[in-house]
Parts: sequence; structure tokens; C-alpha cells
Amino acid sequence: MTASPATPLLELENVEVVYHRVATAVQGVSLRVPERSIVALLGTNGAGKTTTLRAVSGFLGGDDARVVAGRIVFRGEVITGRMPHEVARRGLVLVPERDKVFETLTVGENLDAVVPGRRRLVTREQVFHYFPVLAERRRQLAGYLSGGERQMLALASALLCQPELLLVDELSLGLAPAIVETLMALVRRLRDELGTAVLLVEQNAAAALAVADAGYVLEHGRIVYDGSVERLLAHEDIREFYLGVGHRTDRVRYTDVKQYRRRRRWF
Ligand code: ATP
Repeated sequence: MTASPATPLLELENVEVVYHRVATAVQGVSLRVPERSIVALLGTNGAGKTTTLRAVSGFLGGDDARVVAGRIVFRGEVITGRMPHEVARRGLVLVPERDKVFETLTVGENLDAVVPGRRRLVTREQVFHYFPVLAERRRQLAGYLSGGERQMLALASALLCQPELLLVDELSLGLAPAIVETLMALVRRLRDELGTAVLLVEQNAAAALAVADAGYVLEHGRIVYDGSVERLLAHEDIREFYLGVGHRTDRVRYTDVKQYRRRRRWF
């Protein structure tokens, strides 16, 4: 099926994911990623961000998890429950949170190991243009790379899969703020120059919202807030509990704020 211009690149409609047939990790999640956009999926530990990304990329089976309701649509085609290689072939490429590079291979061998996607837009030269440090280190073992360089190698490998949509899980994890800023700027450049859309899963809301066009906030498996970046940045609760602006930073979740507000109205 061909997508009309109004159709978003990726759309999740009321997606529900259950682990081991009993534990619901994602409950009725709906979100949209328009073409050439960067969309942030924010939330604290265990909110369901990684599970959502796995549901999209097809990597649920190994963890005995299943999409039990809703549907995932890419370019107008339902891809719910597709195998990871089928999803990747369509141009949705995951940069996972863990185990993202082959440590015992060199940087060059990591890039050689990529099975290129259908489109042939991004060349290895282009990848080295965006990540010059990888060209310098192409003969070094990936296991010796710094955390930021590993993320770059993971992004570079994903690019060689010729993505239309990159699914990036916790790019900022464990990295110094300056490195996070560099990586986020690279993500934006990839979108601006190659047109690659990005679904950016992040605990670091400030870093993600600095480059995203829109965002969704996930708590306990549900979307509790969404909107344009301007709208999210202006929202008092999000500023206080996800961006640490303001004084009530002891509470960590948006749902807690809601309860706090409700209680405050009663007294
Ligand atoms: P984090 O940033 O810590 O990775 P997250 O927002 O990505 O958090 P998920 O990893 O998607 O959250 O976890 C959502 C829920 O699913 C949590 O309650 C978690 O305990 C549960 N969960 C995750 N993986 C499994 C698994 N393999 N088996 C059972 N439950 C799981």
C-alpha cells in the first residue's frame, strides 16, 4: 500500500505489550513519527520505552513478549509482529541500548558486518564524513572505543542499513554532557542532511528535547503527555520533573505531580 502525504512515517495505535503472557509493560500507546522528524520518547526507568522500541523493531520474541493489542503501521503498511529483519528491510533500523557493537572486531570490520538495506543512499565515505573519528580508528578493536565512540559506531552501522527511520535507545546513557551534546547534534545533522527520521528514546529529557520536534512522555507503560517541543518545554510539570527546572525535583514522575496537584486542591 502506498502512503498518502498525510500518513505519518510510523504510527502506533493503542499498542499493548505483555511479557511472559502476564506482565503488561506497554498499555495503549499511540504515537506518530512524521517523515524527516525527530520525535522523543521520554520516561524514567521501567516506563516502557525500550519495550515500545522493541515492539516496533520486532525484537520482542527473545524476551517472551508479544504485542497483544493495537497495531504498528509504517508507511501505511501494518508491520505488527514482523520479524526484525523484515522490519529492518523496510527501513526501520534499531540502535539498541546494549550490545550495540562487536567488541572483538575492529571498527572497519563492524562496518563490514552490516547487511545493507534496499536503498543505497549512505556510503561508507559518507559515514566517515559524519564520524571522522571512526575513520581514524578503523583498524582498532571496537572494544577499546570510548562510550561516545561506541555510540558513533552504532549509529554509523545503523546508517549503512539505509534507514528511513532510526530507532535510537538511550543515546546519552552513561556519557558526559559534552559528548551527549555532540551526539545529539549529529542526530540532528543526519536528519537535516539525509532526511532520516528518528524516534529517540531517552531518560535525558533535556538532551532529547534540545534536538527533537515533538515528544511523548511515558509512565508506567502509558503516554501521559505529548506535544510539540515548544509545548513540552513550556509545560510546568515537565519542566519540574523531567528537566529539573524549579523546586520540586524530589518527585520524579508526572503522575506523582498529578496526585500532588489533586491533593493540594483538597487541602
Ligand atoms: P529503562 O530506561 O530502565 O530501560 P524503559 O522505560 O526502557 O526503562 P522497559 O525496559 O521497556 O522500560 O520496561 C518496562 C517494563 O517491562 C518494566 O516494568 C520492566 O520490568 C518490564 N520488563 C522489561 N523487560 C522485561 C523482560 N524481559 N521480562 C519481563 N519484564 C520485563
